[in-house]
Amino acid sequence: MSTTLGVLLKQLDPTLTITMVERLDGIAKESTDGWNNAGTGHAAYCELNYTSPNDDGSVNIDKAVNINAAFEISLQFWSYLVKQGLMPAPQDFIHRVPHQSFVWGERNVDMLKARHAAMSAHPAFKEMQYTEDREKMREWMPLIMNNRDDSEPLAATRIEHGTDVNFGAIARNMSKHLEGLENFTLSLNTEVKALKKKADGRWDVTIEQNGSRSKVDAKFVFLGAGGGALPLLQKAEVKESHGFGGFPVSGQWLVCEKPELVEQHFAKVYGAAPIGAPPMSVPHLDTRIIDGKKAILFGPFAGFTTKFLKTGSLFDLPKSVRFNNIKPMLSVGKNNMDLTRYLISEVMQSHKDRCNSLRQFFPDAQDKDWELAYAGQRVQIIKKDENTGGKLEFGTEAITTEDGSLAALLGASPGASTTVNTMIGILERCFHDSLASDEWQTKMKEMVPSYGESLVENTDLLLSIREHTLDTLNLNP
Ligand SMILES: Cc1cc2nc3c(=O)[nH]c(=O)nc-3n(C[C@H](O)[C@H](O)[C@H](O)COP(=O)(O)OP(=O)(O)OC[C@H]3O[C@@H](n4cnc5c(N)ncnc54)[C@H](O)[C@@H]3O)c2cc1C
Repeated sequence: MSTTLGVLLKQLDPTLTITMVERLDGIAKESTDGWNNAGTGHAAYCELNYTSPNDDGSVNIDKAVNINAAFEISLQFWSYLVKQGLMPAPQDFIHRVPHQSFVWGERNVDMLKARHAAMSAHPAFKEMQYTEDREKMREWMPLIMNNRDDSEPLAATRIEHGTDVNFGAIARNMSKHLEGLENFTLSLNTEVKALKKKADGRWDVTIEQNGSRSKVDAKFVFLGAGGGALPLLQKAEVKESHGFGGFPVSGQWLVCEKPELVEQHFAKVYGAAPIGAPPMSVPHLDTRIIDGKKAILFGPFAGFTTKFLKTGSLFDLPKSVRFNNIKPMLSVGKNNMDLTRYLISEVMQSHKDRCNSLRQFFPDAQDKDWELAYAGQRVQIIKKDENTGGKLEFGTEAITTEDGSLAALLGASPGASTTVNTMIGILERCFHDSLASDEWQTKMKEMVPSYGESLVENTDLLLSIREHTLDTLNLNP
């Protein structure tokens, strides 16, 4: 998030002075790193939780359409960076991997059929294919179809131009570009400890490196600290932070690198979440391509933790409790027993249990071919709710102060895929006057050609932009 905002700002005004502060010894070692997330370019092609049933039995695709349009903004920006030579070749960070949904059981088959009817009628999803034909499915996903019960009703959808993205590579390349620019400083092994608003409206940011503290004076601060953003927002003592809490969930994957299996799977195949399980638990069997190496990932398996970062402290959660968020936090605890039960059952799982879940997808999977890998932390947002006292959100939320001097990003999904759209939203709120200038408007349109137009409303523009981005990023089948 921070490197994206940094590059956008430096492109808009190369004279800006920017300091980027990172507590670890390298860029993108938390949630953005390759194996710390699933690398799915979330475009709502395969994630069943981005559509929902209407009361009349039809399918509501509004959220899916919005996420699809937001991902298209990331693709435009990455295409711009590639064309400008600011990023390496596309194959160093993004690959075409078909996106599929796959379900079993009569109820789920009916649901997928209705979903496909609603989605394929929309221009953004017109290429979505649907099948109940086992031979077709065998072609699309042989590992999943081998040795499967013949009597079980099955259905699948597929979009060819889905993506697997190495978000860590994108962040590291953007940082490398920024480090070569004037008036840009990257401080690694440096932690933001405190923030104080001064009388003149600027911020005193206290940072610590090797045990010694110093201050950075800033007109604008972006807290792009992932799970660490909430504690920093609380330290800034801005009224916009009131009522927010965080609910950390850790993630694990089963990973297989055995070439003879890896070569037989080429798709991201998302299933339906078990009843009562939260949206981030949707199981999927994915092709991953990280630093040129192919693997298959299955998961996620969730775990309970009190850390807000993978390298965080067990005191992160208790230390985030404040007078202004205790009510929402307690309400969420009380009203989300399903989630608590789900997390307990996940934590209790053995390797064999996890492989049994995998075998629902890949019936011939052998325990010995799969290893457990630890993903990043997701800190789900807890916020005030008038009716229940507090609610748990599974999305991403950008918080900005009234005067636009501080912004923070909370939450985890659709996360890295929609970063560019989210950061443009922050520019619109915090750099409103500069963004209105002719220079910034022109540059924005150069970086994101659809800027200023709604890709949700203007689907002709969406399709013509897509043709260009798929081509530039080598994503055509
Ligand atoms: C299991 C899992 C699966 C996911 N799958 C996907 C997916 O398939 N597709 C997708 O688009 N998104 C996915 N996401 C979400 C995505 O990974 C995140 O939304 C995104 O990486 C967040 O980026 P960020 O820059 O905000 O945070 P991070 O990448 O976590 O970066 C924050 C940085 O801030 C640093 N930091 C924290 N506190 C401080 C401090 N006080 N001082 C200095 N530095 C600090 C951290 O060390 C870290 O480097 C997934 C997330 C998880 C956990």
